Amino acid sequence: MHRLVCIHCGAEYPADEVIYHCRRCSHLLAVQYDLDSITIAPGVWERRPISVWRYRELLPVSSAPVTLWEGGTPLYHLKQLGEEIGVRALYAKHEGMNPTGSFKDRGMTVGVSMALQLGMKSVACASTGNTSASLAAYAAKAGIPAVVLLPAGNVALGKVAQALMHGARVISIRNNFDKALELVHELCLSQGIYFLNSVNPYRLEGQKTIGFEVIDQLGGEVPDRMVLPVGNAGNISAVHKGLRELETMGRIDRLPMMTGIQAEGSRPVVDAIQRGLPEVIPEPSPETVATAIRIGAPVNAEKALTAIRATGGTAEFVTDDEILAMQRDLARKEGIGVEPASAASVAGVKKLVGEGMIDRDERIVCVVTGHLLKDPETVVRQCEAPAEIDADLQSLLSALQ
Ligand SMILES: *Cc1c(COP(=O)(O)O)cnc(C)c1O
Ligand SMILES: [Zn+2]
Repeated sequence: MHRLVCIHCGAEYPADEVIYHCRRCSHLLAVQYDLDSITIAPGVWERRPISVWRYRELLPVSSAPVTLWEGGTPLYHLKQLGEEIGVRALYAKHEGMNPTGSFKDRGMTVGVSMALQLGMKSVACASTGNTSASLAAYAAKAGIPAVVLLPAGNVALGKVAQALMHGARVISIRNNFDKALELVHELCLSQGIYFLNSVNPYRLEGQKTIGFEVIDQLGGEVPDRMVLPVGNAGNISAVHKGLRELETMGRIDRLPMMTGIQAEGSRPVVDAIQRGLPEVIPEPSPETVATAIRIGAPVNAEKALTAIRATGGTAEFVTDDEILAMQRDLARKEGIGVEPASAASVAGVKKLVGEGMIDRDERIVCVVTGHLLKDPETVVRQCEAPAEIDADLQSLLSALQ
């Protein structure tokens, strides 16, 4: 069994209440389980296919889930890039290999399942793109309507295409993500629509399984560090929460140093960590080519600052040029195609190693969050267009010169 608990004042709410913020202090809620009473016999998880639902004892869903088979993504050893950057063992957990091409599917399989479990009839979110693509697909699978709000002009093409094709009501807001989020929050509260941004504590429960899978894929070993790109800061908070649960249950004996990477033009969490601030100062006009992390007021900042500080981790920013250079390196040296925001995690490791902030002996897992095909326009801008030639061998040979 589980309940919802305020992360600030500890107030408790029943599991079946539709609530996103504490009524007493308005801070966020987290799902809390009676970990003492959960027993998972040795080998039970290992015998199930690796996916979000391998870990169902630590998830809030009690009925048949709405699933498209999410999770079970590959953990690649970055041999070439690890050597170049100069660390002992560098890995990438490729979340672009989820059903709609980002880790958001882990959150949505749980979030949409909970929408049905709570008797909700429709769902909504604001999105920089991937959340909307994922929500649209899972709402389609569940057979319920979805409304998604996007910041006009700042969503990658592939993501809009997905949201439209899966049949969501897609609305563009003439403003940024942070404003779209405020608006959809009001819409959900006033219209009784289930709110599936990462303020929703159940969504983060699905996302925490990234950490569980990493431990399983490393043969039960805990990496020294986990590095994630940070936008709304839900994912880094979710992974930390999940690993803390494993620690409480005695399945692991330490936690990785949680490390968050933001883009230079959109870095309130980095500033708060580096300046030792008690909370983030929102960035009113965030800017970066990595649209998935173009967020100035991260709603999960409080959880993320705790995750980073409690594990001795850190936060750093990278420039758009560093992000795009690492997107190309991942593609050309490792065969891994990711969207710009995802490359931020590995670019951050490179920068932190260069600054001496990461020990070269560490075993590091970077979460690469979304697929290359999400943002074809940014790819086309970086790469030369294919040469167009006449269809004869002579022309081909001279083109290949
Ligand atoms: C959502 C998203 C992020 C940011 O995750 P947060 O939980 O908002 O910090 C990073 N990369 C990609 C590709 C995303 O879709
Ligand atoms: Zn509270």
